[in-house]
Amino acid sequence: MKKIQTILLPCLAFVCAVLLLSACDGKKNTTFKENPDMEYRTLGSTGLRVGVIGLGCGGFDDIDSATSRELVTYALDHGMNYMDIYDANPKVRSNIGYGLGDRREEMIIQGHIGCWWNGESYERTRDVEKCKKGFEDLLTRLHTDYIDIGMMHIFDKMEDWEAVQGSPYLQYVQDLKKEGKIKHIGVSSHNAEVALAIAKSGLVEVIMFSLNPAFDRVQSGKSPWDPATFENMLPGIDPVRVELYDYCAQHNIAITVMKAYGGGDRLLDAEKSPLKVALTRDQCVAYVLSKPCVAVSLCSVDNASKVDEYLHYLKATDEEKDYNAALNKPTAQAEAGKGSCTYCKHCAPCPAGIDIAKVNKLLDQAKENGRVSDELALEYRNLEHHASECVQCGACEGRCPFDVPVRMRMEEAAKVFGY
Ligand code: SF4
Ligand code: SF4
Repeated sequence: MKKIQTILLPCLAFVCAVLLLSACDGKKNTTFKENPDMEYRTLGSTGLRVGVIGLGCGGFDDIDSATSRELVTYALDHGMNYMDIYDANPKVRSNIGYGLGDRREEMIIQGHIGCWWNGESYERTRDVEKCKKGFEDLLTRLHTDYIDIGMMHIFDKMEDWEAVQGSPYLQYVQDLKKEGKIKHIGVSSHNAEVALAIAKSGLVEVIMFSLNPAFDRVQSGKSPWDPATFENMLPGIDPVRVELYDYCAQHNIAITVMKAYGGGDRLLDAEKSPLKVALTRDQCVAYVLSKPCVAVSLCSVDNASKVDEYLHYLKATDEEKDYNAALNKPTAQAEAGKGSCTYCKHCAPCPAGIDIAKVNKLLDQAKENGRVSDELALEYRNLEHHASECVQCGACEGRCPFDVPVRMRMEEAAKVFGY
């Protein structure tokens, strides 16, 4: 009997260990149950099942913790189990952490490595010490010890990707995976050529990419916000983008989509859209999900009641989702407006401390209304730094993926608001 115990007990322990490890290896959200009202896709080679409508963090900017809890709870209750968190603002992160509460395990999180809070604003960086601080801060504020997808934050230039080869930054990302602090590696990019090169490196399982019918028709290497680009808009999708989408589909790399509506809601408004035709949310989501490599379309909302506008896609008719008729209108080939701000904050930090995205947003609202309302004036006054403090250094413009002439915009805002 003792001999049998000696043989059996180690075997039993081994089987238990294997079972435990396979449950914790991040390959499958095993306890997860699909919501019948959501459509799910598999997130590439991660094996994770994700709702096709996910949450971005852009809407968490100006909301409090209670609203954040309502929003996250509503999203999870409706099957939205995937979320992007790139924002390094401690308040935003803490509110999201509070919003998740004891439901963190239900949300698959892509968190970024390479953004941190410098005390005043978000900053993109490859400095490992800053990356560590930024990443550890994310874990702390989300009350978790792991992030599902560790996203290498914004690689829009080939030089940037080449510069990190063999670098401590890339080593840090790989170490995080070895330590289990991230379960999978991903990357975010607005540039198809760079995203394709990174996909081909074999390092990533997920790519967060700006994808919509307008950006897809922009020739590779050209800005989607340059009028000249749309004078020669491609009749179909840019070949580099086609290659990226095909490569990802063939190699089981998932794309999670940002800017499905053109950045802000630009594609929903014929006046603002580079396509000069108004699409609906349902059409935009149907478009991005028509690509087999796409797993999730992310949306940014600031309260639970707005989530339904995005979830409408799930009950939309085929007719409502049909984007082809709208895209084939001749007006869709019209000229784009240059320099529209999407309020993405990638231009930060500003040495003068200006919240560029916020100033641009207030300026757009003032222009749209044709006046500076009392509310807008108060919101502008409450900013710590104002457009008139711009020292015209131009650093922000080099970081803006959409060629926004920030210096000109700051001058304009200073005139419109008076300082
Ligand atoms: S100026 Fe450019 S980078 Fe800055 S918020 Fe606007 S679109 Fe984003
Ligand atoms: S140009 Fe003005 S807004 Fe842009 S970073 Fe420099 S000071 Fe800030």
